[in-house]
Amino acid sequence: MRLNELESVGAILKGHFLLTSGRHSEGFFLLSRLTQHPGLLEKWIEELVSMVKSEEWFKDVSVIAGPAMGGILPAYELARQLGLRLIFFEKDQGMKLKRGMQLEPEEGVLVIEDAVTTGGSVLSVVKEIEALGGRTLAILALVDRSGGKLDFPVPFFSVLRVEMPSYTPKECPLCLTGQELVKPKL
Ligand SMILES: [Zn+2]
Repeated sequence: MRLNELESVGAILKGHFLLTSGRHSEGFFLLSRLTQHPGLLEKWIEELVSMVKSEEWFKDVSVIAGPAMGGILPAYELARQLGLRLIFFEKDQGMKLKRGMQLEPEEGVLVIEDAVTTGGSVLSVVKEIEALGGRTLAILALVDRSGGKLDFPVPFFSVLRVEMPSYTPKECPLCLTGQELVKPKL
């Protein structure tokens, strides 16, 4: 049902894509196509809240954090539903808090991202939270694109877990068809 929702908003691109890893793929999840609809985002976040609200660490969450840009809207909606504050981290030699946003020592943080593949941005945020003296209690994502292969240092929850097949350039069947290779975003 959630997968159908992604399809209906055009969040699943089909084609011949060059991933940041250098591998080629015939599909790509573009979550901004989902998060541009506040009503849909609200439902996806409600699902995450229902997954985590009975967890032991949940009562210690005092702030929601997301990596810019993809994590900002999910973080906003999650903070809105929980009645908490939100902060976001921006790329700057790792991930940094800017614009006067602050994290107090010992604050319990819930990190959220739109989609995770290798988990790189999320882990940079976790590292910076630690450097600022905060505690990351869990990581949430709308879509886990790794197919469940991620190994985070804290509990991880996602609404949808998917794996898009990808290939090395040498073994890519799409390259053989001559279809143009494109970067899906950025
Ligand atoms: Zn290819």
